[in-house]
Amino acid sequence: MSKKLGLPAQMGIGMLLGVVVGAMAPSMSLDASWFKPLGDIFITLVRMVVVPLVFCTLIAGAAAVCDVRKLGRVATKTLLYYILTTAAAVTIGLIIANLMNPGEGLNISLEGLKPKSKDAPPLLKVLMDIIPLNPIEALSKGNMLQVIFFALLFGFGLSMLGEKGRPAYQFFDACGQAMINVTAIVMKYAPIGVFGLMAFTVAKHGLNVLLPLGKLLVVMYIAAALQVLLVYLPCAKYAGHTPKSFFGGLIEPLIIAFATTSSAAALTSNMIAVQKMGAAKSVSSFSIPLGNTINMDGAAIYMGVAAIFAAQVYGIPMPIDKQLTVLLLAVLASIGSMGVPGAALVMITMVFTQVGIPLEAVALIAGVDRVMDMARTSINVLGDATGALFVTKLEGEDLNEC
Ligand code: ASP
Repeated sequence: MSKKLGLPAQMGIGMLLGVVVGAMAPSMSLDASWFKPLGDIFITLVRMVVVPLVFCTLIAGAAAVCDVRKLGRVATKTLLYYILTTAAAVTIGLIIANLMNPGEGLNISLEGLKPKSKDAPPLLKVLMDIIPLNPIEALSKGNMLQVIFFALLFGFGLSMLGEKGRPAYQFFDACGQAMINVTAIVMKYAPIGVFGLMAFTVAKHGLNVLLPLGKLLVVMYIAAALQVLLVYLPCAKYAGHTPKSFFGGLIEPLIIAFATTSSAAALTSNMIAVQKMGAAKSVSSFSIPLGNTINMDGAAIYMGVAAIFAAQVYGIPMPIDKQLTVLLLAVLASIGSMGVPGAALVMITMVFTQVGIPLEAVALIAGVDRVMDMARTSINVLGDATGALFVTKLEGEDLNEC
């Protein structure tokens, strides 16, 4: 009797089949664009769940917190964890790139490449933008920081009502759980979605596109692996996880992140996974959506690696003070990145401009960005998950236990 394959295994098969079909596509005259709709449907389905899920679970989570000071403590620890692990990520990226010299001796014509640029928004504006003028607009636009801000306040307001607020609390709690069920339904499509995404990526970025910048890719993947080994696994161990239980628990969000290159698409699956792995609901319902928006360790590694790569291609010296500037800016730029494909490629222009790297370099890296983004997004998602497990362990108890 055959046993039914679990979802992660089905997604793994979808991914492998996608790679094979994508690799064969050119010889069968199949265009990459044929596979795209399969993947796009998946991304839209999973992103559809995010705003209602985050809104409802955060309201219910905040309303159930017995001691608001505890939530403040969780927020402080979470933010500290985010900043320290992101700084570690850029540092690892910079060190590995300095050791392996991905851009040295590269003979690539930069002629005709068109730079795109983005100015960093002023910090004050970023902070003020967290407050929504109209919460409904924040919801409809999916502005995650504004949704988090309003949902937390609304949850506190609800808990101040005491018994009277109970029906509303139960309503939002039930809606949150319903959205988790919606996710489970949507995820049934994941193996096909993952197949479409991988087939599209491989058909579009065949080996001939990737090879010239192969060393850059190798450096990025080594740095990403080191971030896992040196930062996440020790934190997960502290939270009581072995590498096996850590990766086993997070396999679904990881495959989604890798295939979609959008951590926003992996958000729901990540939140459900860490809760199953023991992260407190009160911590993860807040820290996963927040981390999804501001904690981007993968993007930070990438900025360190790409800055050294581009400087080497152009023969621009990168003394230690310039590398420290890259470190600082990469932390800020990764906070400003969004969980959508290619976000860090746009934000990196801010780093390049500051350290005098010509923006044409962005166009040069763009050719292989998708493959870099797969590693980035996986790390972005792992970083958030590890944070939720780590902070739960630091707190030692669930915030909802009075
Ligand atoms: N694609 C990444 C994410 O969704 C963002 C980036 O680094 O470009 O997390």
